[in-house]
Amino acid sequence: MRAIDVRDLLERPGSARTVKVREPVPGLQTELAEVPVDTPIAGELTLESVIEGIYVTGSVSGRMVFRCARCLKEFDRDFDVELRELFVREPGPDDDYALGPELELDPEPMVRDAVVLDMPFSPLCTPDCLGLCERCGGDRNLGECSCAEPVDPRWAALEGFREEP
Ligand SMILES: [Zn+2]
Ligand SMILES: [Zn+2]
Repeated sequence: MRAIDVRDLLERPGSARTVKVREPVPGLQTELAEVPVDTPIAGELTLESVIEGIYVTGSVSGRMVFRCARCLKEFDRDFDVELRELFVREPGPDDDYALGPELELDPEPMVRDAVVLDMPFSPLCTPDCLGLCERCGGDRNLGECSCAEPVDPRWAALEGFREEP
């Protein structure tokens, strides 16, 4: 994501400006979720000049691709995350974001943090996904499992053995 020149805002405390962003952000990926690199993240950010720096509010949205944690099927869903962050001029140990040396504001780390935080740890294709059969690997949602009777052949043999007089 391109950095935004905010020198004009910093010169006039109390002033604000709204900017539109629409760019892909690389590397947005966890084990079961990702924002594909060719999918842009778009949104509107309001930049407000405050004493400490620039206060950013707004939201960004895009599309995430998931792999279901139970059945491993791929599916996608739109996301929309709120942003509310302060970019300080002089970063201290407690500040998450700072303006760059040329007094530019790079929204990418903030967008990256917010989107990754929004990624579900355990995405499910449907809340009641039945998952895969532990024995045959069939998708239980499709009724593909062929081992409906939970009888292990070894136990069946033992049962037969016990029935002998
Ligand atoms: Zn599933
Ligand atoms: Zn099965």
